[in-house]
Amino acid sequence: MLVAIGNGSNPLISNTTPELSVDKKGHILLEDATANKTFMEKVYAGGDIVLGAATVILAMGEGRRAAAGINEFLKK
Ligand SMILES: Cc1cc2nc3c(=O)[nH]c(=O)nc-3n(C[C@H](O)[C@H](O)[C@H](O)COP(=O)(O)OP(=O)(O)OC[C@H]3O[C@@H](n4cnc5c(N)ncnc54)[C@H](O)[C@@H]3O)c2cc1C
Repeated sequence: MLVAIGNGSNPLISNTTPELSVDKKGHILLEDATANKTFMEKVYAGGDIVLGAATVILAMGEGRRAAAGINEFLKK
C-alpha cells in the first residue's frame, strides 16, 4: 500500500477568491499578523494555510489570535 499525503495549499482558494492575497505557494497573506486578519474585509485566517506545513500547536495559537482579532472587530 502506498499512502500519499499532500501538504500544499488548495488552489481553490486563490482561484475562487482573488480578494484574498496569497503568496506564490498559495498561502494566505495577512494584513495584520497580530490579529490574523487577511487583506479581505472580515476574513481571518490561520494555521497551515497561512504558515505552510507546521504544527497543531502553532495552528491553535493562530486560531486563538484570529478569535481575539474577530472579537476586537465586533466590539468596535
Ligand atoms: C502526515 C502528517 C503528520 C503530522 N503530524 C503532526 C504531529 O505529530 N504533530 C503536530 O503538531 N503536527 C503534525 N502535523 C501537522 C498538523 O496536522 C497541521 O499543522 C495542523 O493540522 C494544521 O491545522 P489547520 O487547522 O491549520 O489545518 P487542517 O488541520 O488541515 O484543517 C483544515 C480543515 O479545513 C477543511 N477544508 C479544506 N477545504 C475546505 C473547504 N473548501 N470547505 C470546508 N472545509 C475545508 C479540511 O477538511 C480540514 O478539516 C502533521 C501533518 C501531516 C500531514
